[in-house]
Amino acid sequence: MLTSHWVRQREYLLEISRALTAQLDLDAVLEKVLDAATEMLAGQSALIALRQPGGGFAVRAAHGLPLRLMGYFSALLEGIPEQSNHTNFYIPELANKLQQVVLETGLPLRQVVALPMSMGRDLIGVLYVFRAYGGGFTANDRQILGSFADQAAIAVHNAQLYQRLFQEKRRLDAILEYSADGVMILDTGQRITVFNRALAEMTGWPAADASGRHHDEVIVWARLHTEMDLEHALAGGWPLSQEQGAQSPLYVEGDLERRRGGAVSAGITYAPLLDREGRLVNIIASVRDITRFREADRLKSTFVSIVSHELKTPVATILGYAETLARPNAHWKPEMVQEITDTIQGEARRLDRLITDLLDVSRLQAGALPLSMEEEALDAIARRVAQRFQVQTDRHQITVHFPDNFPPVKGDAMRLEQVLDNLVSNAIKYSPRGGRIDIRGHVRRGGVTVSVRDEGIGIPATEQGRIFDAFYRVDDSSSRATGGAGLGLFLARAIVQAHHGSMWVESEPGAGSTFSFSLPYR
Ligand code: ADP
Repeated sequence: MLTSHWVRQREYLLEISRALTAQLDLDAVLEKVLDAATEMLAGQSALIALRQPGGGFAVRAAHGLPLRLMGYFSALLEGIPEQSNHTNFYIPELANKLQQVVLETGLPLRQVVALPMSMGRDLIGVLYVFRAYGGGFTANDRQILGSFADQAAIAVHNAQLYQRLFQEKRRLDAILEYSADGVMILDTGQRITVFNRALAEMTGWPAADASGRHHDEVIVWARLHTEMDLEHALAGGWPLSQEQGAQSPLYVEGDLERRRGGAVSAGITYAPLLDREGRLVNIIASVRDITRFREADRLKSTFVSIVSHELKTPVATILGYAETLARPNAHWKPEMVQEITDTIQGEARRLDRLITDLLDVSRLQAGALPLSMEEEALDAIARRVAQRFQVQTDRHQITVHFPDNFPPVKGDAMRLEQVLDNLVSNAIKYSPRGGRIDIRGHVRRGGVTVSVRDEGIGIPATEQGRIFDAFYRVDDSSSRATGGAGLGLFLARAIVQAHHGSMWVESEPGAGSTFSFSLPYR
């Protein structure tokens, strides 16, 4: 009888340790341990207290005890030593504490056995088994139970590690997924194993479609700005050819082809992940959209070339004419002097205009254009602008059509005049063969629309979205023939937007353009 009990316990121990080590789910491990311990000790119920990450112990699982009474059992946890193993484990006054719990809960518990679950000197938890009857334990019992508790400790520890690993992984996945930069992870065959949201957005490849594909299928360079791409670097031995020391990441920059057409400027940093033996395990690539940097770069160089050209031309003219006038022994007819000073004035005005525009641009970039809002009559402003330009040209016929009782709008008269000024001056500038220029006003629900239509060279559809950008000019001979810094439309639109309105263009190359803006009443 005794032998069979002993044998059964040993069998149990084996079976349990096999089952436990195969199990990585903490809850399942705890349940098995509780089950086995209750059975082995012929107990009635059991509970496990685990060491908390912040210190101290707390009940983590129970078997055969009503959940709602769990709070009473925390008394049994008081006095658990910080470090211990089963040879010197001792919780003071445990029997008395159980008496107290029985009094409070009315549960028929006679005896409690507390087994330390330790790994080395570290106590990771305590296993309590309750019995309905008293009775001693033999030394043999204790030894077997001790080994069982230690097995259980290992299993619990593993499950805890696994749980932590699992949480870490989830955290890392979330960081990758929601990173503002594109991230992808390649396996040793350069197949994509991870492809995050930002990268999907950037490349137009849904993550599910990109996963499993070869890197070169998804990352296709329309143009490279760096010397080589990943393929060439790998062919050249990167990252393993380096003798020793840190493996340097590879940086590749260029224009990436998007899946459904178009391109995006991107910089990719490839970092090799090696195992202890120095073998390549993964390549981790972080991808940054550098469109804005490149755009800023482009803007800077166009700015410098356009502005220097636009500044140089009038200054050269002014200088030339001023020198002519100043020639000591020349006698100029009064009409000639008039013509020269007119030209000087005209060029100085052009300079003044450019400088004012540049100041407006920097004001806009610094925050907003200050506006002084009044009730303004757009029809009156339009007539003023038309008159001013009509006297400068006889190849163009400028007409103004506004319905009677055109409602006033809230706005800054000077700025609104600047908008119309710009549209009409462009209409003239870009209609070198002349033609009609119509300024029209329309009343709409909630606001008004004003349009300026010309019969000039027109704007190709591909350019229509960009002409409102600062320093942008259509790059063709007819535009190049005229001066301009490409700021007029940028400022005009900014002014309209500051009035809570919008501006757009309709145009057909060769037939003419219509620029319109709408303003709310407010
Ligand atoms: P700028 O006239 O100084 O170049 P704008 O910002 O006023 O600058 O205009 C930007 C570009 O848009 C011009 O260079 C020109 O190519 C195009 N554009 C503007 N208005 C017209 C128009 N009425 N007809 C044809 N092209 C135009």
